[in-house]
Amino acid sequence: MLKQQELEETYKILIVSPEVSPFAKTGGLADVAGSLPKALAMLGNDVRVVLPRYRGINNVTTIADFPVWVDWRKCTAILRQSQIRAKLDEVEKLVPVYLIDNYQYFDRDRLYGFFDEAERFSFFSRAVLEMLKVINFQPDIIHCNDWQTGPIPLLLKDQYSRDPFYAQIATLFTIHNLQYQGNFPRDCLKLLGLDDSYFRPERLEFYGDMSFMKAGLLYADVINTVSKTYAQEIQTPERGERMDGVLRSRAKDLYGIVNGINYHEFNPETDPRIYRNYGLNNLSEKKENKYELQKEMSLPVSDVPVIGIVSRLVAQKGLDLISEALDAIVASGVQLVILGTGEDYYENLLRDAQARHPDRVGVYIGFNAVLAQRIYAGSDMYLMPSLFEPCGLGQLISLRYGTIPIVRATGGLADTIKDYDPRTESGNGFTFKDYSSGQLLLALKRALDVYRQPERWLRLMQSAMRSDFSWNKSAVEYMGVYMAARSKHGMVAAATV
Ligand code: ADP
Repeated sequence: MLKQQELEETYKILIVSPEVSPFAKTGGLADVAGSLPKALAMLGNDVRVVLPRYRGINNVTTIADFPVWVDWRKCTAILRQSQIRAKLDEVEKLVPVYLIDNYQYFDRDRLYGFFDEAERFSFFSRAVLEMLKVINFQPDIIHCNDWQTGPIPLLLKDQYSRDPFYAQIATLFTIHNLQYQGNFPRDCLKLLGLDDSYFRPERLEFYGDMSFMKAGLLYADVINTVSKTYAQEIQTPERGERMDGVLRSRAKDLYGIVNGINYHEFNPETDPRIYRNYGLNNLSEKKENKYELQKEMSLPVSDVPVIGIVSRLVAQKGLDLISEALDAIVASGVQLVILGTGEDYYENLLRDAQARHPDRVGVYIGFNAVLAQRIYAGSDMYLMPSLFEPCGLGQLISLRYGTIPIVRATGGLADTIKDYDPRTESGNGFTFKDYSSGQLLLALKRALDVYRQPERWLRLMQSAMRSDFSWNKSAVEYMGVYMAARSKHGMVAAATV
């Protein structure tokens, strides 16, 4: 997309995200918002990050406070600061991280899921724009992520752009998961200082509600999602979550860029969280990780194939297929290790499976970043039969640890995992298309056939570990999209003069 020499142009970038690793994480968005800025910094950009300061985020410096209007109320934003360290070979860069605090909105026991979400993220969205003057940072690009940041492009365009300080700032809105849209009752418009004229289908009205996601999709200069296939899928009624019409109307400005992972953090040679470090040259050590994992999960220590799953326990992740196929998976002679948290129904279903197959199924309900790494390292295969998947990180982390993904070919899974062909030995995993437990079991059977041929399996592990899903390529693609946003903004600004 972008040639290397064009990188001579660098940008001032503000990345806005409701969660950023290592400060706050519920899913893949945090990984992306924590690792993309490092890669962008390494390309020479002045990149900064902002998120809410939730309870439990410590070691921050307080740098300012300022007022933020939410409807008729003048609230206080306390601005705190921290940093992310980016390191590449001998070069080290520090990415400033701003944290917007307000005790009423963010000092709570979890990140999301409250009655006043519209109010919390109206406050946050406006506070981000107000913050820019306080820290005197005029970005070329504000890169917004997911519905919580959707109002920012709208506020910028309709309320701030007459101020020369804000006039040149272009926006990108990234969809990490279209299912979570931030749709709220009509009177929430007031929280953003918007009148009823915004309650129209061509603006924020969305099936009787107003939608934060729609604000981002309509008002950002350009939009993207986290894989090319998902970018196509969300333009169809089947996967468009009722936003497909809006997305089709912006098809020319809609890009797909697959996520990367941080190859320094996710490195089996140095990862301090796994039991035994290993790499391409001493892959036999991977086995030790398997045995220790079996012990930790109270499973018999043995050489049977271990299949790992690390996932939010929601329908999107294919839990219904897993549940349907579980007894047959177990009967095929493998052990299943599952780490996850989510809906009670699926949590109970997995606890029940463990009770029925105590020697075959190990389940840990909860969020545990250390155990997650131990599963990626200690499993032979990684199962991800998602109903839909914007990008997916689990399969990318697995590849890095030589753990072979078995995935349903949808969204980012289709873009990153190529089906193994026994004739040419090409491919880096096993894929199936139909959302059916029969298809899942067939893919598993093909994987087990190869697993039983140790030399072939070793070559497959090696080629999985050699595939490159670091940020190198995707960060350069983001630079291309930032450039597109800037030229679009220039065009739009010129057209409205
Ligand atoms: P999503 O963002 O839809 O949840 P992704 O595959 O993009 O899915 O990212 C999930 C990230 O969260 C991965 O880094 C995965 O390892 C991690 N993760 C998911 N569930 C857990 C858990 N219960 N404990 C620890 N890490 C988890």
